[in-house]
Amino acid sequence: MNSTISILGSTGSIGRQSLEVTNALGLKVAALAANRNAELLEKQAREFSPRLAVLYDEAAARDLKIRLADTSVKVLSGMDGLIEAASVEQADTVITAMVGTVGLRPTLAAIERGKRIALANKETLVCAGGLVMKKAAECSAEILPVDSEHSAIFQCLAEKPPRDRIKRIYLTASGGPFRGKSIEEMADMTKEDALRHPNWNMGPKITVDSATMMNKGLEFIEAMHLFSLPTDKIQVLIHPQSIIHSMVEYSDNSVIAQLGMPDMKLPIQYALTYPERLPGVAPELDFTNLIGLTFEKPDLTAFKCLALALETAEVSGTAPAVMNAANEAAVELFLLDKISFGGIYDCIEHAVNGIKNIENPDLTAILNADFEARQCVKDYALRAGGK
Ligand code: MG
Repeated sequence: MNSTISILGSTGSIGRQSLEVTNALGLKVAALAANRNAELLEKQAREFSPRLAVLYDEAAARDLKIRLADTSVKVLSGMDGLIEAASVEQADTVITAMVGTVGLRPTLAAIERGKRIALANKETLVCAGGLVMKKAAECSAEILPVDSEHSAIFQCLAEKPPRDRIKRIYLTASGGPFRGKSIEEMADMTKEDALRHPNWNMGPKITVDSATMMNKGLEFIEAMHLFSLPTDKIQVLIHPQSIIHSMVEYSDNSVIAQLGMPDMKLPIQYALTYPERLPGVAPELDFTNLIGLTFEKPDLTAFKCLALALETAEVSGTAPAVMNAANEAAVELFLLDKISFGGIYDCIEHAVNGIKNIENPDLTAILNADFEARQCVKDYALRAGGK
């Protein structure tokens, strides 16, 4: 089993739960990196004694350096710091739990060093899936999903069947806080409404993505790359109880599902201990307490972000990177109360339709597309005059 880890995004929801799992399994921590929360990173560094602590934000990193002056922990900042945290020699596994495209370059750096990637940064695969999976194969770096649905699919595929024996995968979705609502009902939903997820307690960006169902669209593209499956073999299925985390249907119509309580510590632990299974940190499932498991089709008329993502999944090139970056920028504006809930889709659609797709992009082309999409959303929101 791998024993020393590095966590990118350690102060976020997945990062904090990863440290709980790390603690329970008795793993060592080589590096911790986060965006700007110096207070929490100081606390984590004192508890887990990594060699390296990184804050992406320069000013916050200066603060952290002062806070940790009495320790031997090295403090770095910026993209170079994130890359160093992903590359640190002592770590054999890197948990990538940052939010957004900012995770792409550090993930590539960890792959180049042959580390196991416990992937919780789905945006990396959405914007550069082809590039990342190719590099992982070249460098013999394992990519193990932390996303609960993808962990489920990975577990259901454990016997590594030939590709043509897989009929389809069912990517389950809770439907988020607005399941059953119409476009009109959702148009002016507030930040507070969107952040109230029925089943999962997550960070703000992914919770808004769940409300728009863009999260499932991003996960659809993530699944295509992780399991190298065509779009017609992936089906989104609404399952409001979030007990079945996804399923694989085989050519004989047998369906294998993975079940568990909706608790991210389970997929985190599996990515760290695979192929072993150790006593669980997550709570056990009590079947006698389950009220029932139900399923429905996603409403692609009401959830236009999901529909757009499924269309974009068919397009190779920079289009997924543009959609992903436009979504990040739009969600940020929504969380700042600059645009309405319905405005998120308008911003993304504007960027996806307005920016030229480039086939077979290299890293520079992807990063340029990402930048252009963010600019496009900002300009559009400004012109539209916000709410
Ligand atoms: Mg998920």
